Amino acid sequence: MSRARRWIARVSIALVAVMGLLAAPFVAASWGLAPIADGQGPLAGVRTVKLGFVSAFVLDAGGGRAVLVDAGADRAGVALLAALRAAGYGPDAVLAVLLTHGHGDHIAAAPLFRSAEIVALEQERALVEGAVTARSPMARFSRAKPTGVRVTRLARDGEVLRYGSLEVRVFAIRGHTEGSAAYLARDVLFVGDAASATTDNRARGPIWMFSEDTDVGAASLRTLAGRLRREGHSVRAMAPAHSGPLMGAVLEALAAL
Ligand SMILES: [Zn+2]
Repeated sequence: MSRARRWIARVSIALVAVMGLLAAPFVAASWGLAPIADGQGPLAGVRTVKLGFVSAFVLDAGGGRAVLVDAGADRAGVALLAALRAAGYGPDAVLAVLLTHGHGDHIAAAPLFRSAEIVALEQERALVEGAVTARSPMARFSRAKPTGVRVTRLARDGEVLRYGSLEVRVFAIRGHTEGSAAYLARDVLFVGDAASATTDNRARGPIWMFSEDTDVGAASLRTLAGRLRREGHSVRAMAPAHSGPLMGAVLEALAAL
């Protein structure tokens, strides 16, 4: 082997090793998670849009209009707009984009929906708009910069939002981020990155690498489970952003965290 080839081989091995190290947290984080199911899937009345490693959700609001939960990582929203079009909605049909939190892979395409309210909890506004950075281990060395997304409606914990025929309850679930929100609509609990579902239908709390405080996050979910039970809400499924859904005993799964 020539010197040049040996050198190329060494560099290649080093590159593979570095890429492996960089990818390890992502692989570990997704291990055992239920796969995201694109399309109508098991969540009747809810369309899942798989955008690579993250999902957004389309909820029908009647009269040819829709509400989105999250808006993916692509500012051009190519796959999201295509999925909406395939379901019979144009961008102007979207009445609201409900942001579960301000991480970049959940908010990017929100400005494309010009006639929609962009909804987030007040505690999350600065992160959504890019006035502050996330406080997770992964984001420790990143700098704040404007995201181009503007929150136009600040939601409060316990609030009920109405869009056409759709009723949405808002819950604060601090932990993954300071202002993480869960939305309950059509008996499905949308939790963003606050929880995931495993292939054996259990819940996992927020992932350390990407979260501000995993203990607080798990406690928020246990508290939410108790509250949903006390208030008598029907919850038939949980829809996380980075895994498939948890079907059935959602409150028991969250209480066990
Ligand atoms: Zn996140």
